[in-house]
Amino acid sequence: MKPLKPVIFLVDMQSFYANIEKSLRPELRHRPVVVSGDPERRTGVILAACPLAKSYGIQNADTLREAQERCPEVAVVRPRMGLYLQISLRITEILERFSDQVEPYSIDEQFVSIHGSEKLFGSPRQIAGKIQAVIRNELNLYARVGIGPNKVLSKMACDNFAKKNRDGIFRLDHKNMKTDLWPLPVEKMFGVGKRMGDHLRKMGIRTIGDLAQFPLERLQKRWGVNGHVLWMTANGQDLSPVTPHTFERQKAIGHHITLPRDYRTAGEIRVVLLELCEEVCSRARHHQLLGQTVSVGCRGANYQLPTGFHRQLKMPEATNQTMEIFQYAWQLFLQFWDGLPVRSLGVSLSQLTPDRHIQLNLFEDRGKKAQLGYIMDEIKDRFGPTAILRAVSLTCAGQALNRARKIGGHYR
Ligand SMILES: [Mg+2]
Repeated sequence: MKPLKPVIFLVDMQSFYANIEKSLRPELRHRPVVVSGDPERRTGVILAACPLAKSYGIQNADTLREAQERCPEVAVVRPRMGLYLQISLRITEILERFSDQVEPYSIDEQFVSIHGSEKLFGSPRQIAGKIQAVIRNELNLYARVGIGPNKVLSKMACDNFAKKNRDGIFRLDHKNMKTDLWPLPVEKMFGVGKRMGDHLRKMGIRTIGDLAQFPLERLQKRWGVNGHVLWMTANGQDLSPVTPHTFERQKAIGHHITLPRDYRTAGEIRVVLLELCEEVCSRARHHQLLGQTVSVGCRGANYQLPTGFHRQLKMPEATNQTMEIFQYAWQLFLQFWDGLPVRSLGVSLSQLTPDRHIQLNLFEDRGKKAQLGYIMDEIKDRFGPTAILRAVSLTCAGQALNRARKIGGHYR
């Protein structure tokens, strides 16, 4: 029997918070509505604007003052996050009628793998239409659906096309990728923010197609495994599965990566683990948080037959220092890795506390080390993420490796 080609949906809710308020409060139905953190303070930020408010030029992240200047009669509503989360869960339940593979991606976006549902519910396009209809009937909300053979193509189908379509459905696959996706500016690609876009433009990469055809080695040299992932995204390749889960671990800062191929040796996995620790710690520092528990997880290539582990370790002291956390993460990895090829890898930091030492201990050793992390972030902002990492991984990580060898004793 020929295996069915996977079909993945990204279901995105239009103006989620604002449209929920409009659907529940009839007096708002025909008015421009924005949801804003603190309606009393005009410096507050717009969290969501309904399409009517957007037609006045109001955008998310505008200040309330700007929004009211653009549209003086705009209705300003306080956010009810608990309610929005409940409705997000109801949308998950609706999607689960069509597939058991539903993965909430954010509060208003969910991936659905409709693998095997086709016989039951029709073609992908028909299923997308049915999902829209059920959500509209039961919740009075409007969903847009991006369809693709994997997550990144469905996400880009939604963001770049379905959101602008009349019927809110678009399918992006390897057939229309070159004609529809590649001409778009590189900032429109999933995973490319403003800053990354600037870096890419400096390298002469203007469109998603430019990135897809750029020499892979140069991207890898500049951004490590993330460079490889960028290149794969531009080429519509993505190996990550739809993984059902709920929002349970919001109290952690984590980063997870599906590798572009199987990683087999401890040496190459170590580099990725270091990059993940650096990403997690950089985010922790950005929020001025320290964490005391580090978790490491990995999985093999066959998601039907899971191999791998997920383990955590409480460190003696809370920290957001990359090399400290890496040392423990690597120790965990060496202890629990079964030696099989690794396809995905994640690190997270939990038991978070605010980092109050930063200013106080400036001249002490620990303070200096803490400052170093913040300085490194700044340098990387300016010169690219691997500017510092490479030097660090040759020195400190080498030491961490030796230490881990002695402690773990499972080095292969
Ligand atoms: Mg949305």
